[in-house]
Amino acid sequence: MKKIALFPGSFDPFTKGHEDIVLRGLQLFDEIIIAIGYNSGKTQRYFPIELMVSKIQETFKNQPRITVQTYAELTAGFAKKKGANYLLRGLRNTTDFEYENSIAQVNKHLNTELESVFLITSPQFASINSSIIREVHRYHGDVSALLPYRL
Ligand code: ADP
Repeated sequence: MKKIALFPGSFDPFTKGHEDIVLRGLQLFDEIIIAIGYNSGKTQRYFPIELMVSKIQETFKNQPRITVQTYAELTAGFAKKKGANYLLRGLRNTTDFEYENSIAQVNKHLNTELESVFLITSPQFASINSSIIREVHRYHGDVSALLPYRL
């Protein structure tokens, strides 16, 4: 059976840190679906979702095992619909751990077949943070070194 992983997130924007998790995930899974969710807590995006879909597709245009989708429902339900038995997530620090621990428990409760798999961030990407990139971009700072594509 194919090992399909869903990599869910807001990706507002998708960063080099995210790219690193996806590329390393390719060594563990047959297929990875990057799933851009409308997170209930942050409904207002900074970067339009259509723009992010096309930028992520451009980033992985030579990787047929990676696809990009958007969803507006529970992650656990969307994973089931897509035949994904794994949720891929990245861990930068203890703050990420606290948050990820809670959502992994809930996701397991909602879909018992779903296993969350965490990759520790590569040190060179550990400080990359989407919300800081949004702030810098808002005030016309250069964020190009933090993104795997040109805006
Ligand atoms: P969410 O809104 O679900 O937290 P994000 O787009 O912020 O979504 O992040 C998606 C996933 O990528 C999360 O598991 C997050 O911890 C991870 N992540 C975010 N930034 C980095 C980074 N710089 N390096 C590795 N993983 C990261």
